[in-house]
Amino acid sequence: MQIRVGIKTGDLIQLDHSHLTLSSRDALRAKPTLGEPYALRSPVGLRADDGVVVIKQTGGAQPVGNKVLLEAGKPGGIISLASASTGKSAAKATSAYRGILEITAKGNSLRVVLITDLENYVQGVLQSEVPSYFKLEAMKAQAVLARTYGLRPRLPHKQLDGFDVCDSFLHCQAFYGVKVLTGMQQEAITSTKNQILVYEGRPALAMFSACAGGHTEDYQYCFSDPVTNAFPPPAIPYLQGVPEGTLPAGYPSEKAMRALFAMPKPDTDDSWSMQHFKWRVSLSADALEAHMHHVIEQLQKDPQFAPFIKGPQSGKFGHIKSFEVGKRGVAGTAINMRIKTSEGNWEISKELTIRSAFQNPDAKLKRLRSARLFFDQSFDSLGLLSRIQISGFGSGHGVGLQQIGAQGLATRGKNYKQIIEHYYRTAVVKSIE
Ligand SMILES: [Zn+2]
Repeated sequence: MQIRVGIKTGDLIQLDHSHLTLSSRDALRAKPTLGEPYALRSPVGLRADDGVVVIKQTGGAQPVGNKVLLEAGKPGGIISLASASTGKSAAKATSAYRGILEITAKGNSLRVVLITDLENYVQGVLQSEVPSYFKLEAMKAQAVLARTYGLRPRLPHKQLDGFDVCDSFLHCQAFYGVKVLTGMQQEAITSTKNQILVYEGRPALAMFSACAGGHTEDYQYCFSDPVTNAFPPPAIPYLQGVPEGTLPAGYPSEKAMRALFAMPKPDTDDSWSMQHFKWRVSLSADALEAHMHHVIEQLQKDPQFAPFIKGPQSGKFGHIKSFEVGKRGVAGTAINMRIKTSEGNWEISKELTIRSAFQNPDAKLKRLRSARLFFDQSFDSLGLLSRIQISGFGSGHGVGLQQIGAQGLATRGKNYKQIIEHYYRTAVVKSIE
């Protein structure tokens, strides 16, 4: 089974590459839209010129039409791609792929889609998403999910972009091409071959995250409808939060969250790594005042966030007075947050928006690790905010399988099916052949 993977630039957001360099240990082979396939010496440079792909080699530049397919000269060979636009992500500086690269000119930039076997995609996701020290059963669970997600992504890339999934963890799953597999990675893939997560006869939405910190979350408290932006969207029966052990009574009340945070070693399957389990950041009012108004303004320009930010009528941000969590999901995730300012109230909803609102260069903070959090605020003698301390659990959205918990379950002797069925109750692992 083949899959089409959109290759983004180094910011993991854009699809438009300005210039590409492709190489392969063997020669490359090109299949232009018009004319016969032909061999190319490695490496080749590519750029776009007004809707036409131009291949540059030492002999000169050659326009090859709107689209060209490039592959390694030998069957099954590996092709390396370096994009002039990948500077920001070290993981993607140069990526090696197995398959065919479909390069299309869009104006003066290039779009890249990797056409590859589903199992090659699973391999790349496993290598990009799972630490190589993980237990075999945890890795097998992740292989089943990677395969499932490839068959049923959350976002409608197919209609919008002409591929099945992109390679960014911000949207889909991390996929930075293939490296040499460890023996255990190989075994995780081959021993689960063709197995996927199924609900009511079709591939399930296999969401997963890094660490939930005690309790996983319901889908509808973290994600909006990918088409209508409705938030919360309808619940998904198999994406309901589950406790990872014994939590303080009344969880997720703020009181219970504070009690959990204070425990040196909670009795949960994900507390083996306390550095993943909980975190704390502290921001001065000065640091908040210096950046938050600008960050909110930027988020309002991004269609991914804009619908989830509501300001006072003046549209002005004002001086920050205090922060307040509104509703919480079953894991304690803030569904919405109120920022009280001198201009009125700002309502920020959905976990990624809330996390992103705290981006702060002074604190070297890109976003909060999660939105399963609570605030401690200090005020000066005039009653003005002087500092906020944010305490939180885990990292990522916390919906579906969490990797730290899966590793904990595997350490306790659970097999991959038991691990998956713990996180996706009512969905089952099935073979597609
Ligand atoms: Zn995507």
